[in-house]
Amino acid sequence: MTQRPAKLTPMLAQYLRVKQQAGDAVLFFRLGDFYEMFFEDAERVAPLLDLTLTSRNKDDPNPIPMCGVPHHAAQGYVSRLVAQGLKVAICDQVGDPQTSPGLVERGLTRIVTPGTVLEEEEGLASSEPGYLVALGRGGGDNGVVLVTVEASTGELRCCETAASSVAREELLRIAPREVLVPAGDEVLGEIAAASGAAVTPRGRPAGDAAADAARVLDRLLAGDRPASAGPSEAARAVLESALAYVAETVRGGLDHLAPPQLYALGDHLMLDERSRRNLAVVEGAGRGRHGSLWWAVDRTVTAMGARRLRDWLLYPLLDLHAIGERLDAVEALVEAPGLRADLAEGLRPIGDVERLAARISLGRAGPRELVRLARALERASGVHELLSAAPRPALLERIAAAIAPPPGLAARIGALLADAPPLTAAEGGAIRPGADDEIDRLRALTRDAQGLIAELEARERAATGIASLKVRYQRVFGYFFEVTKANLKSVPPHFVRRQTVASGERFTSPELRELEQQLTTADDRCRQREAALFGELLGEVQAHDAALLRLARELATLDAVAGLATTAHEGGYSRPQVHAGSALDIRDGRHPIVERTSAAGCFVANDASLDEEGQQIVVLTGPNMAGKSTYLRQVALIVLLAHAGSFVPAAESRIPLTDRIWTRVGAADDLVAGDSTFMVEMKETAAILGNLTPRTLVVLDEIGRGTSTYDGIAIAWAVAEHLHDATPAPGARVKTLFATHFHELTALADSLPRVRNYSVAVREWKDDVLFLRRVVPGPASRSYGVAVARLAGVPDAVVRRARDILRGLEEGKGLGPSGAARTRARNEAQLDLFADPAQRLRRELAELDPDALSPLQALTKLHELALLAREG
Ligand code: ADP
Ligand code: MG
Repeated sequence: MTQRPAKLTPMLAQYLRVKQQAGDAVLFFRLGDFYEMFFEDAERVAPLLDLTLTSRNKDDPNPIPMCGVPHHAAQGYVSRLVAQGLKVAICDQVGDPQTSPGLVERGLTRIVTPGTVLEEEEGLASSEPGYLVALGRGGGDNGVVLVTVEASTGELRCCETAASSVAREELLRIAPREVLVPAGDEVLGEIAAASGAAVTPRGRPAGDAAADAARVLDRLLAGDRPASAGPSEAARAVLESALAYVAETVRGGLDHLAPPQLYALGDHLMLDERSRRNLAVVEGAGRGRHGSLWWAVDRTVTAMGARRLRDWLLYPLLDLHAIGERLDAVEALVEAPGLRADLAEGLRPIGDVERLAARISLGRAGPRELVRLARALERASGVHELLSAAPRPALLERIAAAIAPPPGLAARIGALLADAPPLTAAEGGAIRPGADDEIDRLRALTRDAQGLIAELEARERAATGIASLKVRYQRVFGYFFEVTKANLKSVPPHFVRRQTVASGERFTSPELRELEQQLTTADDRCRQREAALFGELLGEVQAHDAALLRLARELATLDAVAGLATTAHEGGYSRPQVHAGSALDIRDGRHPIVERTSAAGCFVANDASLDEEGQQIVVLTGPNMAGKSTYLRQVALIVLLAHAGSFVPAAESRIPLTDRIWTRVGAADDLVAGDSTFMVEMKETAAILGNLTPRTLVVLDEIGRGTSTYDGIAIAWAVAEHLHDATPAPGARVKTLFATHFHELTALADSLPRVRNYSVAVREWKDDVLFLRRVVPGPASRSYGVAVARLAGVPDAVVRRARDILRGLEEGKGLGPSGAARTRARNEAQLDLFADPAQRLRRELAELDPDALSPLQALTKLHELALLAREG
């Protein structure tokens, strides 16, 4: 720690006082036109921001390290620090330097933290939320409460989970930028750290902060929710601590917060993180939005609409009624192309009114933003009229009711503010000419004085005969006559010399001084009045807070619905029939992302059917690149889209209500998760098998490929058997799609009644393999590897030998547990792999080290040995 100087200047004493309040945040301390950092802050930040570290009192034995950034460029520096997980406290002048004698009063005006960013300048992405999550202990031994806040929109959610593992999953879905954990709670601290977000340990709020938070929460909960469904005591505590933190950092009150949405994980279709990545729900392979499902189906026209859609894809519904309502709304707009286009045109210029309304509610809006609001409200009126004139299903009806702007508000803003006002009221010029008599008078005075100065200039120029005589203005000196050296001899006696500059001298005169006086007082008074009028107007607008915030949120929802309708229309999507039964039927389904990235009309549509009685497990075979993975994912994506309330890329579909989608890609094929190993793959397989719900859809793509052939087949086989026989609820079966390159697995259909073989059709044509991309009943021919080897130019002798071996294998007719043994026994001379099962069994047992095996490994091994034993 840098040593503090023994004697503090008043400024430094003030600095240290504010620094105390800033806690662990870097303090940006406003001095003149700069934000300065001192002591450890300076030392810490200078290298991060490439600033030069200097010192304030170089001659002192303990010089104070400092660095600074120009105030007008501060945002960029702040966002760079926040992006690195730091917090930045902004300290500004809060007193008026002209009226307060001595040191100007300074105070914290904002603490920017990763999870409470309010503006794009602070590092917020326009179409993505910037979430803060507060974690706390919930009911039971393992219960965890997650409170999610989006400070820039006021969105507030609260979820109670019964197990910390589930909380971990939910935290990954939310993907917050910052997580608050109770100080000292190691378990929650670890969960928070695993999310990759910035972790902020906090004590429970106390004193005024706690009382304020409790009051705000009471107000929010008193709203329109039924009294019965309030949050638990534990949830309340976490909500309060989240609110206290937002109040402390945002420093503008909490009026922009929406009533908390209380949800349980069972309310939404759940995907674990791996499945979400694998299906690229909101992030493509490059970790950005591009290439994701969100990207593929997003035709919204505002950033807030895009955010709403993203949320729908992350939180698909499980309530048939709610799904139906969204689908009804989408359908109504699909069927009304004119209305859809008009809505898009009306919504586009409205922009991100959701964040705008929140800024206004927080009192962080300037004149330019109020004018933006007025324009948005005028547009909203238009959208409201469009919607009111059309036939409306329930969701559109609710939207229509909420988006009627408060009457007269836009006109009131428009009447008072200029069309293109400055960013802040203090700059002057915000009030429209003619709107206020006093301001008009003061402006006229200013203008007059300026005219009189010009007149004076002309008069003195004539009187002195100095042709180059000019009245000029400089911020520090005010107005002055400038006379060049050559003309100094003609200066009249009533000119008073004020300053010598290189080119000549500067003078004033009693008359000039009086005009200057008149000008500055009029100007000052005008600015004060402008600021006062603007403040009044802002207050009036803020009185409509709740209505404006609701209007903004409903417009975002409308944009999301209209966007989905556009997607459906342009992409030829159809309305899915989501039902409470168990059968899945897709006719001519397509992969929404691959279809978008492939040339128009090139994507080959395929059917899919799964049910619990006949076709529970589909084993899909086919050579590399045939289209197996694409097919699997497309089925999962169609199911997900349907639950989000979207139309789906298919000619027709019946989608069973599904509460969980598991997708796993074998370690060797998983391009998304670079860190994937066979061990990870097996752990995840265990997670799937241990968490089957009655309405699960399982999609397994090449699992078991990350280990030796025998291992791999054994594991895949055992997993398929388990899924086939599992009954997560009485009578319920786990619908499964299973893509594999292990041809042996096609024999599953011989022994398991609800397994069906399908393959992706490929045709050899001339010297090429044609990928037909069609999924057809029956197993794939197993000779493609050999055919491809021949095409690739592998020597004829080798290809012939390969065909021989293959024929030998095929005589065993697939690989049922017994057929496999016979086939393999015959080929033992060629490959150790096909050694005598009895011998092999003995050797395997002898080599086994039971202590070194995890339970899962042991189980796997046991399956493998059992398979071997049956073969013998
Ligand atoms: P596999 O898993 O069988 O190796 P993929 O599913 O990865 O094959 O598909 C390989 C490529 O084939 C994909 O990148 C995609 O471009 C293309 N493809 C897959 N299915 C289709 C289809 N139905 N229509 C058109 N192209 C497809
Ligand atoms: Mg594949």
